[in-house]
Amino acid sequence: MDFARVSTLLADWGEPAYRSRQVYQAATRSLAADYDGMTVLPLSLRQRLSEAEPLAELELADLRESGDGTIKLRMLTRDGFPVEAVAMRHRGRRTACLSSQSGCPLACTFCATGEMGLGRNLSSGEIVEQLLALARILRDQDATVGNVVMMGMGEPFLNYDAVLDACRMMHDPDGFNLGARHIAISTAGWVPGIERLAEEPLPLRLALSLHAPTDELRSELMPVTRRYPIERLMAACRDYRERTGRRIFVEYLLLDGMNDSDREARTLGRLLGPGPAFHVNLIAYNPTASEYSASPQTRVAAFAEILRELGVGASYRRSHGSDIGAACGQLAVEGAKARRRALRRIRARA
Ligand code: SAH
Repeated sequence: MDFARVSTLLADWGEPAYRSRQVYQAATRSLAADYDGMTVLPLSLRQRLSEAEPLAELELADLRESGDGTIKLRMLTRDGFPVEAVAMRHRGRRTACLSSQSGCPLACTFCATGEMGLGRNLSSGEIVEQLLALARILRDQDATVGNVVMMGMGEPFLNYDAVLDACRMMHDPDGFNLGARHIAISTAGWVPGIERLAEEPLPLRLALSLHAPTDELRSELMPVTRRYPIERLMAACRDYRERTGRRIFVEYLLLDGMNDSDREARTLGRLLGPGPAFHVNLIAYNPTASEYSASPQTRVAAFAEILRELGVGASYRRSHGSDIGAACGQLAVEGAKARRRALRRIRARA
């Protein structure tokens, strides 16, 4: 949904100023999927808007529900790019995992989205719409979204302005009204984004996908390390911590025989240091086309124990929805195929 365009249209048509607020609130608060249900608007205006700027910018292409309650939506932008969004069940709370880009240019070697390359950045409206689409489905199950994580496809800090706009909209007490601390941005370590986030008045959560404690190993897993080595990354994190006082959530994917030895645990523990500045979430690897495999449970436990001994908080994140390809890193392998199909359809229509 493109609220800026809706507002401009309404102003051009000489509608009173409160109209665009009504549309915005109907969409973000009452979760209206289109103008038809917006009975506060005169019927003629609803019809005029539907013709000029349909409310939905994303078309639902597929909805899957996993045995553990995870829901994955595959949607398509108007120009045919795939977008995926997931809702997970976390102890009664629902977490929405949203995409910031269609595809991703960072090419992390363990990630399926990385394999497809970058399609394009998503607009703030396309990002918020993923949340609203999930919220509507959850409403039918009497559930609400309690947390948002920008951990779907894409690197949020390569699309900084749209992502921040989207977060402001999700947070807006007049709109979706989600607490800023319930919105997390996850980055592969794009330093300029961390620096900018440190200046934002909105107290969003920051998560850092670290996955390795040395440049040598990390470069192998995450090519972005060559641009922003760990030392620069840690300097930006410490600065963020000083400015905001907020904790940084470090994600560490445990790959069997790759980054999961006692030595790496100790190097990581010393890198982060004791104290509350960092909390490590150990993540299970979800199978993609890559050659890696997940570390065994005993390794995970030993790794976490070493971190705790060094005074670093650590927990283990169970994976959700891997049976429907909805888990971390599994988004959008099929998306590339979907885009080719959608483009054929769009061309056929033209
Ligand atoms: N680009 C951002 C956000 C998207 S990825 C980032 O890198 O943080 C969201 C998380 O899923 C990241 O921590 C990423 O490293 C992780 N991930 C990617 N592939 C994965 C896989 N196959 N198994 C488990 N987690 C994976």
